[in-house]
Amino acid sequence: MSACNNCTLYKNCSRVVFGDGNPEAEIIFIGEAPGKKEDELGIPFVGSTGRILDKMLASIKIKREDVYLTNICKCRPPENRDPLPEEVSECWPWLEKQIAIIEPKIIVTLGKYALNSFVPNVKISEVHGKILKINIPKLGELKIFPLHHPAAARISRKTRTLFEEDFAKIPSLLKK
Ligand code: SF4
Repeated sequence: MSACNNCTLYKNCSRVVFGDGNPEAEIIFIGEAPGKKEDELGIPFVGSTGRILDKMLASIKIKREDVYLTNICKCRPPENRDPLPEEVSECWPWLEKQIAIIEPKIIVTLGKYALNSFVPNVKISEVHGKILKINIPKLGELKIFPLHHPAAARISRKTRTLFEEDFAKIPSLLKK
């Protein structure tokens, strides 16, 4: 992955941010793409959104090092723009490989881009906080748990409340 040039995003980023955490995790958190700080450090979910995620994990007594964190696109888009559909599709096989290795019980998608990469044509406002069972040819049945993106939760008080309520459901989902 470090040498990937399957899409043009590799040209402007500092490094490929492939993921962080426990490769035997029961849960994967998947965001959209690395931001400035992630690009600098090579670690997903650092900086302000990372701090929100760390705080939420602490609130449900799960350590960051016990989960796995990654993004749909592994290279930072210029000026933090949204990833283009062709960039998402070129990067998708890397994510499939990560999921195949980790075999998580639950995949938590953060934000609409991550959600719609797994389940197109659904609105995050309608499905957040609910388990969606999907089938992907190379991976079999997956349980997707869509959450709002921590960056959106940082901006809007209403989204923050929904994000916290949904996040609190994770421990009981893992027990099931
Ligand atoms: S974003 Fe993904 S597909 Fe594009 S160059 Fe980076 S690793 Fe490769």
